[in-house]
Amino acid sequence: MSYLLESYAAMVGTDVIERLRQLARPLAGMSIVHVNSTRVGGGVAEILEKLVPLTNDLGINTSWEVISGDDDFYECTKGMHNGLQGTRQDISRRLLGVYEETNFLNAEKLRPVLEEADFVFIHDPQPAAMMQHCPKRRGQWIWRCHIDASRPYRSVWKYIRNIVTPYDASIFSLPAFAHPLEHPQYIIPPSIDPLSDKNVELPEEEAAAIYAAYGLDPTRPLIVQISRYDRFKDPVGVILAYRLAKKFVPGLQLVLAGGEATDDPEGALVLDEVKAAAGNDPDIHVLLLPPDAHRIINALQRAADIVLQKSTKEGFGLTVTEGMWKGKPVIGGDTGGIQLQVINYHTGFLVHTPEGAALRIRYLMQNRKMMEEMGAKARNYVRENFLLTRHIQEYLTLLVGIQFGAEYRIKLV
Ligand code: UDP
Repeated sequence: MSYLLESYAAMVGTDVIERLRQLARPLAGMSIVHVNSTRVGGGVAEILEKLVPLTNDLGINTSWEVISGDDDFYECTKGMHNGLQGTRQDISRRLLGVYEETNFLNAEKLRPVLEEADFVFIHDPQPAAMMQHCPKRRGQWIWRCHIDASRPYRSVWKYIRNIVTPYDASIFSLPAFAHPLEHPQYIIPPSIDPLSDKNVELPEEEAAAIYAAYGLDPTRPLIVQISRYDRFKDPVGVILAYRLAKKFVPGLQLVLAGGEATDDPEGALVLDEVKAAAGNDPDIHVLLLPPDAHRIINALQRAADIVLQKSTKEGFGLTVTEGMWKGKPVIGGDTGGIQLQVINYHTGFLVHTPEGAALRIRYLMQNRKMMEEMGAKARNYVRENFLLTRHIQEYLTLLVGIQFGAEYRIKLV
């Protein structure tokens, strides 16, 4: 067994790893290519970072390609993202032309790899139009939608639906996100990697040094939201909730930490809005972190009494899983993938407004025992449902299923 697989066996149990090896056996020597639009920043990159080497260690040749585009391309794909999440978004014909041309140019570069692969996972809309430029493709193409597409803006969904209809299968994170398409659809929620720098246990001194570096007072209560500066994450709503809660929780501190995803052109604008909303309150820490700040984020999540993810739309919310894994109750927006993780009154609270979030912050801060119980349940819930090994198991099951159909049986010896 490889060193990597060994280390997961120690974390999740050898039986789980053995199950993965059984599932991988019929796929041995085959190839998988994952394609997305950024190597760092955002949940997709976060997942692929470890999913790719682990699948390789299971004997399946797996690679990860990243497409590139100019500002117009990202403006268009951000519009698609917003439109899929329900915002009214009329994307101009010119920008759609840039999208199509960019997909063509990237397909020119990647064609040999894509046409040869046994399985191609296309993540989200950005690279989705490459398939039509790979006429000699011999593998199965799977569109993996990470977005809450439950109530998309109609014209955006129609455009994307036309592009993804010829795929062999698609994957959504929740049943509510799926749409009628002429190919099989699968529901597979994402996961976190318990052994990554983002999620491993940290030595106390390292955590303490990070609190000091950011001017946090470990003796006072702290709430933390980690996320890209994106309006759907509602960072300004978090500031409102903090202000309301602070009236009842003296000394409360807030950290809002985010970075820049290279495929998100709106980040700088939203960061300005957040800074304006924070004003000069010394207890609000608005941080812009580099893309490799995993251990810092880890420490901030551990420093928190409560983790917030007050999104108004959320495909899944890896930050929720990360907070729960650190034994924190999460107060999250009652939407999308957060509903799958935050079991109201058990692993945290689901809220609709800054007022609702403030009420729950106040309640938990005044009920430390409840806070601890919820945190413990949250960690267990992630252990059972949202670790990377479960995610790989479901991907492999899907691949075996679409490759061999019902004729194949996985031998359990
Ligand atoms: N993240 C990060 N740096 C940041 C902000 C976020 O590394 O400044 C990570 C975060 O810890 C999580 C992922 O990026 O692992 C965000 O995934 P999520 O599903 O929460 O949101 P998305 O950005 O994909 O909408």
